[in-house]
Amino acid sequence: MLEICLLGTGGMMPLPYRWLTSLMARVHGKSILIDCGEGTQIAMKEKGWSPKPIDVICFTHYHADHISGLPGMLLTMGNAERTEPLLLVGPKGLSRVVGALRVIAPELPFEIECMEITEPEQSFAFGDFRIEAFRVNHNVVCYGYSIAVDRIGKFQVDKAMGLGIDRRYWNRLQKGETIELDGKVYTPDMVLGEARKGLKVTYCTDTRPTEGIVRNAAGADLFICEGMYGEPEKKEKAKENKHMTFYEAAELAKRAGVAKMWLTHYSPSLVRAEDYMRDVKKIFPRAEAGKDGKSVDLMFEED
Ligand SMILES: [Zn+2]
Ligand SMILES: [Zn+2]
Repeated sequence: MLEICLLGTGGMMPLPYRWLTSLMARVHGKSILIDCGEGTQIAMKEKGWSPKPIDVICFTHYHADHISGLPGMLLTMGNAERTEPLLLVGPKGLSRVVGALRVIAPELPFEIECMEITEPEQSFAFGDFRIEAFRVNHNVVCYGYSIAVDRIGKFQVDKAMGLGIDRRYWNRLQKGETIELDGKVYTPDMVLGEARKGLKVTYCTDTRPTEGIVRNAAGADLFICEGMYGEPEKKEKAKENKHMTFYEAAELAKRAGVAKMWLTHYSPSLVRAEDYMRDVKKIFPRAEAGKDGKSVDLMFEED
């Protein structure tokens, strides 16, 4: 299962009724946060989640509305007596940016590891899920992220019986272990069917539409995409500021063939995203206006 919560949906500045855009995901006991602007820890608290167990924080880019909440968040983790190391992932310059922010949060009871993205597309594996970073097109270096959970094939009882493998070892093979019995080696692929459809959530914000987004979001169960402006006449402004309109985001969702799209990163001037959704749905019917705290639990398909 992949639990998703869009903690905030604002761009540029937090508002009394709208926190800055960030995403929290939980998968197989691991917690991942993408972006951490001013107030993200309050948004998290409103959801009832704690920053203490976060394992990885990914940053799309280093504009303040996406990272200025980090020092406060680190201090909160420290106050909660966290000792487990924390992994940070982001574009080149991460260590320098984090180093600067750490001037105001110098003493922490846990280690911080910075992993800088050096390629246009790069994948980070964490056991049974992956974080895939892909370069987007903003006025500074910026990346989108997919969180992908793989799902191995179904256990084939007839194959295991045919190979004469003792029942006691089935469970280990099913979990992906290779075993050796009486000098013979059995690998999981010998008893598992074809890999089944996993889960994927793609998140991209602060960018113009790109082909890379379409490719990386392809087939996603949920595509969370920036939509800075709902007013169609603001398309030129979106181009200038390297952002998107709702309609441009909907075109991407349609082309990527995603199951669902949520919009986020609204301009502070945009009051009610819902007002524009009728026209957005004409392009991509399964589009929804993101709202602070909007959540979903994505589950593997039934066999
Ligand atoms: Zn932004
Ligand atoms: Zn930005």
